[in-house]
Amino acid sequence: MSRGNDLRLKLFATGAKAASLYFKVNQEVYFCPLCRRGYLIQAVIDGTLTLEHVPPKSLGGKPLVLTCKDCNSGSGHSIDSAAALREDVESILDVIMGRKEDANPRAAEMIVGGNRVQIRVSRSGGFTELKLVESASKPDALQGAQDVLETHVRNGTGQGEEIRIEVTRKAFHTKAAISDLKTAFLAAFAFFGYRFALHPNLRPVREQILQPDQDIIGNRFHTTLNDEASLKEPTLIAITEPLPCIAAIIGKRIILMPEPHGDRKLYEIVRREDYSKTFKGNALGWPVSMEFRLDRFLARNKSAQMTHNGETARKNATDGD
Ligand SMILES: [Zn+2]
Repeated sequence: MSRGNDLRLKLFATGAKAASLYFKVNQEVYFCPLCRRGYLIQAVIDGTLTLEHVPPKSLGGKPLVLTCKDCNSGSGHSIDSAAALREDVESILDVIMGRKEDANPRAAEMIVGGNRVQIRVSRSGGFTELKLVESASKPDALQGAQDVLETHVRNGTGQGEEIRIEVTRKAFHTKAAISDLKTAFLAAFAFFGYRFALHPNLRPVREQILQPDQDIIGNRFHTTLNDEASLKEPTLIAITEPLPCIAAIIGKRIILMPEPHGDRKLYEIVRREDYSKTFKGNALGWPVSMEFRLDRFLARNKSAQMTHNGETARKNATDGD
């Protein structure tokens, strides 16, 4: 059996154990946190339960949880490829703006003085090189762009007409944000467990991830932090103010999700114009494995209450670890 299978079997066992605590059943069933369908161990063997990288593999994420093939390869694929595309565009922008060096030319589309042309961008030794790709651009647009650039070179930087460079932005930004939402949701699932993921308050989140073409929760679930606040490592945060919710910080982006005990109308509240963007809360870190803290904690507390016996309660409390 391959290493991928070993890992999936391990995740299955961890998930099924948490699910049995949540649903109070003894059968070994793993529930896909997105579509809530239950799977027996056969689903690991036949490949119906698949490894899900959080963040997506293309963005350097590691396998963290299992989701079913339908959720992973269907809508999941389209939102994750949008996130990869967005990363690509941002990386090209960094090269153009001189924030990053990359000697490998990257393909991009650029508008120079109203002319839409294909370019290749690279940056090394402190110089950004923009190369017009003749074969992929329309001849008159290419000529127009060349004229603008030559005028710019003749006049020198900072003089004459300002050059406008726009890297084309497409509809992938909405889908990329939904991919962030999936990353946030699955990380919170690994951290808290089924008691978080399957809670009715999280239903709009699951639906939005599974139907990225529909507008279910609006577009205010994500916002961008200012430069100083961005973090290198992704982090989950239990937000306490202005209203209790769970947030994930991924790079410069902050993604908001309802919490089981919070307001299920979170997204209606953040849609209001007067909504404050100043958040206060406690950093929780980022799960490196399925921790399922809520499922285990509540199971522990229950056994402690029921036994009235210090010894048994302590024993039960350590069983789950
Ligand atoms: Zn599923």
